[in-house]
Amino acid sequence: MEVRGIFRGRGQRDALGGGKARAPADAARRLELLDDFELAGNCWLWASDEDGQLTYISASAAARLGQVPEDLLGRPLSSLFETDRSNPDEKADRPLSFLLSANKRLAEVVVRPLFAGDGDASDAVAWWSITANPKHDSSGRFLGYRGSAKDVTIEYRRTCENSRAAEYDALTGLANRHRMNRRLDSMLTAFKAAGRACAVFLLDLDRFKHVNDTMGHPAGDELLRQVSRRIQQVTGQRNEVGRLGGDEFQVLLPDLDDRARLGELAGKIIQLVSQPYTIDGKRAVIGTSIGVAVAPYDGLTREDIIRNADLALYAAKNGGRGQFRFFSADLRDEAEERRRLLEDLRAALAQDQLALHYQPVVRVADNTVTGFEALMRWDHPERGPISPGTFIPIAEESNLINELGHWALRRACRDAAQWPLSVNVAVNVSAVQFANPDFTQTVIDALGDSGLAPHRLELELTESVFLGDSEATSLSLATLKSAGVRLALDDFGTGYSSLSYLRSAPFDRIKVDRTFVDTCTLEDNNSTKIIAAIIGLSEALGMEVTVEGVEAFDQLEVVCAQGARFIQGFIYARPMTLDAITERMSTGEFRIEPAGPDRHRPERRTVFLRVGVIHEDHYYEAVMRDLSRTGARVEGLLGVTSGDELLLDLGGGQLVICTVIRAHEAVFAVEFDSPLVSDGAGGLCTRHRVSPYALAAAGMPLEALPPGKYPMAARTAPTSRPRYMEVRVSDSAHARDFPDEAAA
Ligand code: C2E
Ligand code: MG
Ligand code: MG
Repeated sequence: MEVRGIFRGRGQRDALGGGKARAPADAARRLELLDDFELAGNCWLWASDEDGQLTYISASAAARLGQVPEDLLGRPLSSLFETDRSNPDEKADRPLSFLLSANKRLAEVVVRPLFAGDGDASDAVAWWSITANPKHDSSGRFLGYRGSAKDVTIEYRRTCENSRAAEYDALTGLANRHRMNRRLDSMLTAFKAAGRACAVFLLDLDRFKHVNDTMGHPAGDELLRQVSRRIQQVTGQRNEVGRLGGDEFQVLLPDLDDRARLGELAGKIIQLVSQPYTIDGKRAVIGTSIGVAVAPYDGLTREDIIRNADLALYAAKNGGRGQFRFFSADLRDEAEERRRLLEDLRAALAQDQLALHYQPVVRVADNTVTGFEALMRWDHPERGPISPGTFIPIAEESNLINELGHWALRRACRDAAQWPLSVNVAVNVSAVQFANPDFTQTVIDALGDSGLAPHRLELELTESVFLGDSEATSLSLATLKSAGVRLALDDFGTGYSSLSYLRSAPFDRIKVDRTFVDTCTLEDNNSTKIIAAIIGLSEALGMEVTVEGVEAFDQLEVVCAQGARFIQGFIYARPMTLDAITERMSTGEFRIEPAGPDRHRPERRTVFLRVGVIHEDHYYEAVMRDLSRTGARVEGLLGVTSGDELLLDLGGGQLVICTVIRAHEAVFAVEFDSPLVSDGAGGLCTRHRVSPYALAAAGMPLEALPPGKYPMAARTAPTSRPRYMEVRVSDSAHARDFPDEAAA
């Protein structure tokens, strides 16, 4: 009988417990039992002294490590084994030396031998579970550990795989919602203590569902994998990307609160994700929208930050696809407002409150009207006219767009059937409506019912119809084409512009977007060259071109010099009612002479925003009337003089340092110290905001920034007399100056 393990050092007789004297026969039986037990190799025994050095180890355990016990004895246990620091389980996240130094019981701590055995190769990645009790003498002095160990490699690997599955998305390998939540929680907690910021991007793919439905789920899966790689490519190592499920992604961006950089990054993601994908040799195009919220400005807890990023995402999707949007407090009202408008719109359609107006398209050579574009009009019983730019996107969020589109198509065909045969009608088709499998049949039915010849109907599609599965799109286009309908590509140059589809898609016409015409008369501008290029390209491909949005004679001259032959713009006519055009048609040929201003005046961004003006230690209320990236016009303060330095409070923690460059009575113009940046939705915002941490340091409770003005409670009471005098600027003055806006 021989005990294979070897004792060494002090207290070795106590090593396996039972210090008290026992009958020799009993002791021998116990030793024999122990011996058999150790030989079986399922479980090993070990002991350490008060310094953590190994004093005993089962010979079979040592053998498993490719050693003999003598080589191991006297070495610190923590130099032989280590815990799994990558394990998300909190306990294992501590070094073994730390656990041992506590002199407390060790319960099933999983460790890895630090050197490989020479025998079995799988030993190299073995995992052992160790359990041990601390041993104390009668005075309570710690003597060391008495422990056991067993090989748990198979079970532990399985546990790790399971916990990986619980934390990561199997499809893309990105962190899943559960892990992202945990990461954001712990980041927010740590950052709160350190006064650091953290931004969150929420992404939702546009038209992913369409790809999934038409190309099949395996193609959809592959697309998601490619998307996740592209997102990671832009965001880099430091920012964690997760897939929350479906086509929703999230990015955590620690220490980023500069909205210029956040906007740039979001823009890059949108751009990269919107590039075409090749899946199984087929092409697919999708887009993405991004909502951005930043802690601590937009919320301190995960719930608040996620809810606000979600609201921003919702707004981004509604503002037209392929946009990002920063959270701002008024988005909360916007969401509610859209819900109400959708209800009203549904009722308006049912109660026949919608109308179609028609805007002439004129051939420049002889000023003859060759057709009309049908534009939807909604006169809301309480709010007055609402622009289709507002209500069409709302309808696109629900099935209502199909009904609206159907209605417009039938109405336009019916109306146009009464016009002279030389006059065509163009009807706008939303991409959402186009993707509907019934769409082509709807068109054929509308033509049949009205008796309108198919070649007199032109469908205006935007580049977004190419999002999704390009085969299904091509098929629908071909069906419409063979039915004899004409196809136009609307708003060309503003969307997911990719010239490759022009090669194969059977368009008869391209409509140059108004934005190019708007800027074509400005100096140092590429718009004129772009207009020329689009006209050249279309002619080469045998398509006609309509230039949209010509308002003034200087624009007319520029676009005609580039070869424009068809124009649709206020210089010829605004959209008109059916009655107005039938009346004019009854007089014979329909010609319109251009009429309008000589020069185009670029649109100023007119606003009516109550702002704060901080000067010395006084806070004044004023109204901002014009806003650009670099300056603003403000009204409502007397006594302001050129050269004064002010702090403008735009609300929501946005303070802008500026200098007065002109002042007249209660109106003054200021220039900003540093320019504003885009808020992603055509609006402007400051790069930085007042940090809630700074406010907290000044004695305010720590909370997200309120929507309104800079909280003055954090400031001390004024000690000087105010330099300026507030004068009231009323909304009615605003209504007088800007009747259109006031009605909206
Ligand atoms: P769009 O199809 O590009 O229509 C041209 C828009 O430019 C119209 O705005 C028209 O009134 C405006 N416009 C034309 N010439 C000028 C000009 O010289 N100056 C200026 N400032 N504007 C000009 P509207 O009627 O507000 O429609 C906006 C958009 O709403 C349309 O853009 C179209 O995308 C959508 N829409 C309108 N009706 C329908 C519809 O029945 N169905 C769908 N799906 N969309 C529609
Ligand atoms: Mg159009
Ligand atoms: Mg257009």
